Amino acid sequence: MTSTTPTMARCQALDAADPLRPLRDLFTLPEGMIYLDGNSLGALPRAVPERVAQVVARQWGQDLIGSWNSAGWFALPRRVGDRIAPLIGAGPGEVVASDTTSVNLYKALSAALSIAQANDAARRVVVSERSNFPTDLYIAEALCRERGCQLRLIEAHELQASLQPDVAVLLLSQVNYRTGALHDMARVTAAAHAAGVLTLWDLCHSAGALPIGLAAADADFAVGCTYKYLNGGPGAPAFVWVHPRHVARCWQPLAGWWGHAQPFAFTPEYEPAMDITRYQCGTQPILSLAALDAALDVFDAAEKLGGMAALRAKSLQLTDLFIAAVAAECPGQFDLVTPRAHAERGSQVCLTPTSQLPAGCAYAIVQALIARGVIGDFRAGDARQADILRFGFTPLYLSHQEVLQAAHHLRDVLSTKEYTQPRFNQRHAVT
Ligand SMILES: *Cc1c(COP(=O)(O)O)cnc(C)c1O
Repeated sequence: MTSTTPTMARCQALDAADPLRPLRDLFTLPEGMIYLDGNSLGALPRAVPERVAQVVARQWGQDLIGSWNSAGWFALPRRVGDRIAPLIGAGPGEVVASDTTSVNLYKALSAALSIAQANDAARRVVVSERSNFPTDLYIAEALCRERGCQLRLIEAHELQASLQPDVAVLLLSQVNYRTGALHDMARVTAAAHAAGVLTLWDLCHSAGALPIGLAAADADFAVGCTYKYLNGGPGAPAFVWVHPRHVARCWQPLAGWWGHAQPFAFTPEYEPAMDITRYQCGTQPILSLAALDAALDVFDAAEKLGGMAALRAKSLQLTDLFIAAVAAECPGQFDLVTPRAHAERGSQVCLTPTSQLPAGCAYAIVQALIARGVIGDFRAGDARQADILRFGFTPLYLSHQEVLQAAHHLRDVLSTKEYTQPRFNQRHAVT
């Protein structure tokens, strides 16, 4: 370990050589804050406030209803979808930005079940991981109840064995929200297809953090949110992608007027659009879409500096650095929950305290770090899994020096026992 103990001099050199460094200036971040929570709520891109103000004052205030046409409001979900598409390996016209991840998941999973069962009515099971983000499991459970299907929860190592003849859809998050573990989308999709199973990928913790190849992997459906690594703002509209071979094969269940082939014909009968437009439901939040649209300019700038491949390279450098720095500065005090192998790691690092530290201290450590301006978050454990400290690394704006400083703060929070203070041990509603 000693030979690789990260130093500030080394981090300065890495920052000086970082081709993505200009991107930092595209964000507003509070002075002195080290923001390691871009996997929960991305930072504010500088261009957003002005754009939103302009949409409010000019498009809404002056042009009013005319803005649905003149400002392109009506087409905005598809236009923003077209900007997200290259970031997730999808084609133009294949993605729409709308609703929430939970709602899009309901639409996509329902459609996937309809398609799978049209081929083989005996396929009545949705398989997902027990450790998947709870809303994915709740939506899947509700939908299964509604349709007389069954949700079967597995551990990651049971994936291959779970692809049984009664399975319709495999629903996975590409990167696990809790551990940062990354699935090999192409390999898993190929295994699912070989077993006659459709795939639905949740990209919430991978979109904007690493290159994604939906088309290359031949995936079937995908959903994801835009307020994490895509920096669209709190509650920003989510997205949904459906492979073109499936898109017109069935109705999605929330067949609202925005998914109609001709919404302004106002016909009493539903006639779905033939493309991804049918996955829209009703009127979309234009102010939030405008914020997201402006936020995506950051990725245009990133594209000129090496794009998602460069972002991925830096993300791995940052997470490698944090893992090495914590091992060097806090020896024996944390176990690494996130996989070490690059091919199995998203853009976050999760730690769990070892028995060298007092039981139940993870929450207070995170609170003490936050008081020092190092923003991470805490996810409670249960009977099966330990409490974790979760740190997200956004390569768009983080420097190597900040990452090393964060590890130094973590060391100091432990050595001073700062985390034992009562003020760091009061639970808030959002952890
Ligand atoms: C963040 C996240 C969600 C959030 O869903 P919302 O509908 O936006 O609340 C869903 N799934 C995963 C895997 C997530 O990480």
